[in-house]
Amino acid sequence: YSGGPRTLREFVEVTWAYGDRPFLVAESGTHTYAEFFAAASALARRLVGEYGLRKGDRAAVAMRNLPEWQIAFWATQLAGLVAVPLNAWWTEAELTYALDDCAPGVLLVDGERLARVEAWARAAKVRGVVFAGAGAGALPEGFEAYEELGPADPAAGPPDVPVSPEDDATIIYTSGTTGRPKGAVATHLAQAGAAMNPRFHAAASALGRGLVPGQGPAPVSLVTYPFFHVAGFSGFYSVMGSGGTLVMMPKWDAARALGLIREHGVTHYAGVPTTALRLLDEAERAGDPMESLRMFNTGGSAAPPTLVGRLTERYGERVEPRNGYGLTETSGGVLANFGAEYREWPGSVGRPTPTTEVRVVGEDGSDLPDGEVGELWLRAQANVRGYWNDAAATEAAFVDGWFRTGDLALARDGRIAVVDRIKDVVIRGGENVYCVEVESVLQGHPAVRDAAVVGVPHGELGEEVAAVVHLSSPVTPAELRDYASRTLAAYKVPVHVVVRGVPLPRNATGKVVKRELREQVTAWLRG
Ligand code: ATP
Repeated sequence: YSGGPRTLREFVEVTWAYGDRPFLVAESGTHTYAEFFAAASALARRLVGEYGLRKGDRAAVAMRNLPEWQIAFWATQLAGLVAVPLNAWWTEAELTYALDDCAPGVLLVDGERLARVEAWARAAKVRGVVFAGAGAGALPEGFEAYEELGPADPAAGPPDVPVSPEDDATIIYTSGTTGRPKGAVATHLAQAGAAMNPRFHAAASALGRGLVPGQGPAPVSLVTYPFFHVAGFSGFYSVMGSGGTLVMMPKWDAARALGLIREHGVTHYAGVPTTALRLLDEAERAGDPMESLRMFNTGGSAAPPTLVGRLTERYGERVEPRNGYGLTETSGGVLANFGAEYREWPGSVGRPTPTTEVRVVGEDGSDLPDGEVGELWLRAQANVRGYWNDAAATEAAFVDGWFRTGDLALARDGRIAVVDRIKDVVIRGGENVYCVEVESVLQGHPAVRDAAVVGVPHGELGEEVAAVVHLSSPVTPAELRDYASRTLAAYKVPVHVVVRGVPLPRNATGKVVKRELREQVTAWLRG
């Protein structure tokens, strides 16, 4: 594929043409594309002029989903800087780890994050801008309030910094689900590829109307993914590529989300499966048909296969279900399952975009035939070039342009299903038990709100299958085991079923924190 933008600077410059259309809708009000572009350009000029930052310097962005996040992020791209969007949920220690690792030349943070980065900034002598929520008190030395920088001059435009496709655009830290977070480095060409991916899928989907420029009305998207994660990037890229409107929430709240859908005539919803399910619960409880909705998008972690049936039963063909698959290392969604194909095979993550190639690879490195489980390898324009400061991890994960995902998958007629993460597979007496299969079965039980499967140590078998469930109505572990054994072979049926009174621990992209769960279950079994 050729054509389209080759840098993020080129991509965002196109949005200039959308002028007076509403772009960012937040609690603080609405910003048009023109206002947004002027504000991002003004901040970019300041980063270059006042802060003296030069091409390739890192700029850390740590905020909630606020309009200022978008302004700060795009300012870095207009200034030729490498944006480092940091996880806003991180503690001071976690933020400090990443800041030490990437050594940014400036911090762009909200009021809440300020206290967590202040000590690092003082020690490293790095200055920063504090966006929303700076509070009335004096800011620490080296920090200034965004509001005080003065109004943006719409005529001034961005600074003149030449950016080429090979230059680095972003460093995004992996969630750290399976270990220490690693900084995945994407070039402009990779991010420009990622920016186009949602459009390829929208163009391929008949009902994805509104995402293809020039066809139908521009989408109004409620994006509840955190912006700092690549799933959030896919969310706002798809909006910007078509001059749509991005409705955002600084904090998740199902009733509020439903209110925003009604208030702004939201056509597209995008979020992790956990929030998506809460939204459906709330809509059903309130008897709200979400009249304006056309597309229901989930990603970031596996969606329960029951989700699609529930959507179809409730909203028929009006709302198109969509499930996107991707990783930090592919800069967002590179495969998607949607429409009729999704309804027919809910357990699949669908097909790759035209700039993505897939392989399912066996242990000996050969390509496996359809139906056989192997590691999913991806070669995509959106692939990152490696990990920051970590040549060994880069070498282990990237082979001749292919990225080894660490996910186990199988193919069928060009479509892919992810069966588990390699590190999560339970190996019970030499038999592989794929967690996703067992979780899907348990999630199908009407009394189960959420379920996760982990391996726990066993003297003879090595590992044994355990399930942790969060219930919506009472059911006994024996009943659940009995239910699971109607569909699953005996060795896959969880021997232990632990009922939790609180929701399962999930991270920012909706993934169950299995490390934590495994420790808890093992301790519980011992004690
Ligand atoms: P770390 O590498 O530090 O453990 P992480 O892999 O959790 O971090 P992400 O890049 O956020 O960080 O997660 C990518 C993973 O999320 C994929 O490898 C896959 O296991 C899972 N995933 C993403 N989307 C989907 C989906 N639609 N269906 C199933 N799994 C998904």
